[in-house]
Amino acid sequence: MNPSHRSSPDSDAAIRVRALEAILTEKGLIDPKALDALVDTYETKIGPRNGAKVVARAWADPAYKQRLLTDATAAINELGYSGLQGEDMVVLENTSEVHNVVVCTLCSCYPWPTLGLPPVWYKSAPYRARVVSEPRSVLKEFGTELPETVEVRTWDTTAELRYLVLPERPPGTEQMTEAQLAELVTRDSMIGVTRAVKP
Ligand code: FE
Repeated sequence: MNPSHRSSPDSDAAIRVRALEAILTEKGLIDPKALDALVDTYETKIGPRNGAKVVARAWADPAYKQRLLTDATAAINELGYSGLQGEDMVVLENTSEVHNVVVCTLCSCYPWPTLGLPPVWYKSAPYRARVVSEPRSVLKEFGTELPETVEVRTWDTTAELRYLVLPERPPGTEQMTEAQLAELVTRDSMIGVTRAVKP
């Protein structure tokens, strides 16, 4: 396996982490519930809010959107988000004709600076296989039904690139501020399994 595909669920590191967690819990040094809460925070709260701000800026500012689509790493860095697993970013724009969805078929590569930690399903073998072979069925399970006229493109994270989906701006949001727009941008919509939330 390519060493740059990090945090494989079956990696040595994962096994060691589980062993450590078990020992620390047994000795009463950590509370597994507190640990779960911490992981959940990075998975759903702190992490994806960065990406949401990037998307909201792109919706509100056409010049920023252009920079984001041309050089995503630099444009994301403008907002202060950079670092490990975000060194080489590519942003994929969803339109009324094309719907992009992201996977790492090898393991669980994910853009940490913009999305935080990957959700469990993203790392699961069924998602990694099925989003390639039957993306429309997978999207349907996430509640995303796309007309046959929309082309679905699945992007496999490569050794170096991390993808972020720029979801379509929902209709009826013309008067909203950037902060309000960011609230419509979910983690799943930036992986591409759902659309942004309608206000
Ligand atoms: Fe990977």
